[in-house]
Amino acid sequence: MHKKIWLSSPHMGGTEQKYIQEAFDENWIAPLGPNVKGFEKDLENYIGNTSYVATLASGTAAIHLALILLGVKKNDVVLCQSFTFSATANPITYVGARPIFIDSESDTWNMDPILLEKAIKDHIKKGTKPKAILVVHLYGMPAKMQEIITISKRYNIPIIEDAAEALGSQYKNQKCGILGHFGILSFNGNKIITTSGGGALVCKSDKDKLKAIFLATQARDNAPHYQHSEIGYNYRMSNIVAGIGRGQMEVINKRVSQRRGNFEFYKKKLSSLPNITFIEEPEGLFSNRWLTTILSDSYETREKIRRALDKENIEARPLWKPMHLQPVFKTYESYTNGVSEDLFQRGLCLPSGSNLTQDDLQRVINGILSVT
Ligand SMILES: *Cc1c(COP(=O)(O)O)cnc(C)c1O
Repeated sequence: MHKKIWLSSPHMGGTEQKYIQEAFDENWIAPLGPNVKGFEKDLENYIGNTSYVATLASGTAAIHLALILLGVKKNDVVLCQSFTFSATANPITYVGARPIFIDSESDTWNMDPILLEKAIKDHIKKGTKPKAILVVHLYGMPAKMQEIITISKRYNIPIIEDAAEALGSQYKNQKCGILGHFGILSFNGNKIITTSGGGALVCKSDKDKLKAIFLATQARDNAPHYQHSEIGYNYRMSNIVAGIGRGQMEVINKRVSQRRGNFEFYKKKLSSLPNITFIEEPEGLFSNRWLTTILSDSYETREKIRRALDKENIEARPLWKPMHLQPVFKTYESYTNGVSEDLFQRGLCLPSGSNLTQDDLQRVINGILSVT
């Protein structure tokens, strides 16, 4: 059997252990310390636009804190992109709010601004004005932010930007993560850079960042004893984990070009096939191409390819199953247009790690060509 080719596996840059060693040398084995501050600075400099970043235990924790900071409460309504990973939607239920799922448009596969506005109008009429818009840059492709920001301003509803898959992606020369009121990042094991597990909340002011850190460290009041006036969380990133992040930030640009290189390779080798298409970058959008995805002409072709790759010990996965089709969310309202259901039927994620070799990529191509 050939060695396993994974969808997206961790890829260390080489200097991560130096930062971890420093933490050990100084005995900073705590959820605080110089690596946390250093990693936050690295991210702020990278994202730019005067961003203020709080590093946390996960991207999911970052979404939870963003909802709290926006004052989303029990029985509130949050408009959430349906075509995404469940981690986008789960935190809405943590605060007792209700997700309403919005389908995608077919240019970027992200939230459809037309359906978004329709949902807002309907709910304002019903007296349940939505409290937040949760938009995702899926697979690294930026959403139609200008349209969504215009709607956000028109109705005065803040945006949480789920950029978990989109570190390094750009919307009209601005980095994803700082385009909404809050942005979230993930450093889970399969993301474009990883700290083994971790995330970050991107804020637009130091005040919001400090409030996020306050909530993430058990909401301790300023007193010599332990005093609390608010419910807190244990969501801060540890200084060891942040050391991995500092090493990874030294190679982020390289990782983006390697992932984009995978996309170019697949496209070159497969674009002559009549039954496979690729999603292109609309004008002004720059994707980090976290995962290369293909669309086949039918569910049957998709499954044929997936099974052929599986037989060759190559991991490939269908695109995300939309939230409005998930058993756990079946009681919630949704605004659909068939786009995400169709993508789920016909789409496949190909191995996309930045550490794939030319031989690995060729094996994937051979697997696909054997059945198409
Ligand atoms: C990975 C991911 C998250 C969650 O991040 P974690 O760090 O794993 O909690 C959220 N949204 C999307 C779209 C993701 O891909």
